[in-house]
Amino acid sequence: MKIFVINSGSSSLKYQLLDMDSSLVMTTGLVERIGEAMGKVEQKNWPGSAREQEIREERPFSDHREAMMTVVELVTGQDTGVIASRDDIDAVGHRVVQGGECLLHTTRIDDEVVEKIRSNCPLSPLHNPANLVGIEVARELFAVPQVAIFDTQFHQTMPPEAFMYPLPYDLYKELKIRRYGFHGTSHRYVSQQAAQMLNKSPDQINLVTLHLGNGSSMAAIRHGQCIDTTMGMTPLAGLMMGTRCGDIDPAIIPFLMREKGLSKEGVDALLNKESGLKGICGMNDMRDIHAAIAQGDKRAALALNMFVYGIKKYIGAYLAITGPLDALVFTAGIGENDDVVRRQVCSGLEHLGIVIDLDKNTGRKKIATAVQADGSQVAIFVIPTNEELAIAQETLTLLS
Ligand code: ADP
Repeated sequence: MKIFVINSGSSSLKYQLLDMDSSLVMTTGLVERIGEAMGKVEQKNWPGSAREQEIREERPFSDHREAMMTVVELVTGQDTGVIASRDDIDAVGHRVVQGGECLLHTTRIDDEVVEKIRSNCPLSPLHNPANLVGIEVARELFAVPQVAIFDTQFHQTMPPEAFMYPLPYDLYKELKIRRYGFHGTSHRYVSQQAAQMLNKSPDQINLVTLHLGNGSSMAAIRHGQCIDTTMGMTPLAGLMMGTRCGDIDPAIIPFLMREKGLSKEGVDALLNKESGLKGICGMNDMRDIHAAIAQGDKRAALALNMFVYGIKKYIGAYLAITGPLDALVFTAGIGENDDVVRRQVCSGLEHLGIVIDLDKNTGRKKIATAVQADGSQVAIFVIPTNEELAIAQETLTLLS
């Protein structure tokens, strides 16, 4: 069974073709800067696939439809493709960001589901419309089952005291303002991997999962179910991120509008694109921040300290609600690769039973690795996330 996984973002389109019988990623690719003057497509056919090669091309892509057509040509093309025709694809799995309260599980896509995804666009105006374009074009091109997996679905087990905001209750009823949480596919994937590493079933374990990338979030998991997460109605809330502010005093927003004469779009851009690590030190990539710290850059050091401090505060908060913790799990770009962040996050948590082994922690982790010290009450795992594989597995499970 060959499953095509599509992650159609606001200006990019990521894709993977997976052969579920042989567990082979046949090809993986990305179209970037869709709609801009110059775009780019990259595709890497995996070693072991029929045509092992990398394709890279720079040219404009006017819209997602054109991007999708190009992708299909590349995946099936005589010189570039790993399959002979689009008929070789058995199913398509789509990442959809916002499922809202009406789409709670992995769902086979039909017209009604498309309308429900559309109804969630006001909650996720940047992501859901782009996800929908990917779905519409894929439904036209592939006469096979299409499945939607929602970033929000893993967090649907949060109790009301965790997902409600202390705003007038009618706003929740009228506008569905509440915490939804994101990165759910990743949090779920690594929590299942952690269960395997602990040799327990997922419903027996308590975890705190840390998805630390350009966008970052944490989840508190009790008996395998998410009971709280740091992102909110939108991905802006919670941890300080690459360019997003995370939690701030909400009164800062009207204050900024008043004092700086900012429009609502201006404030939105400031909080989403100019804040976080970038806002503090001008850089949003943790590798650049470490390099700058080595050169004595004090702002970069402050940014790193703030990032780590915010994570530690949430670990403390989540320990209070998960009960005895089985494991702390690091994943995503920073979580998997950055041993300094992992070390600093765990430093000082020894009294909570969290003790990292500095030697085991050293370096980037390409495979799931336990990095706790002998005798640490809590396991500390670094687990590479794989959202595409998780989407393909979910698609396969639903269809079989
Ligand atoms: P997203 O999916 O949110 O765009 P990723 O999970 O791909 O983000 O993470 C990207 C981030 O990971 C980069 O911005 C960078 O800060 C960090 N990162 C990647 N590789 C390394 C590394 N070797 N060391 C430190 N940080 C890294």
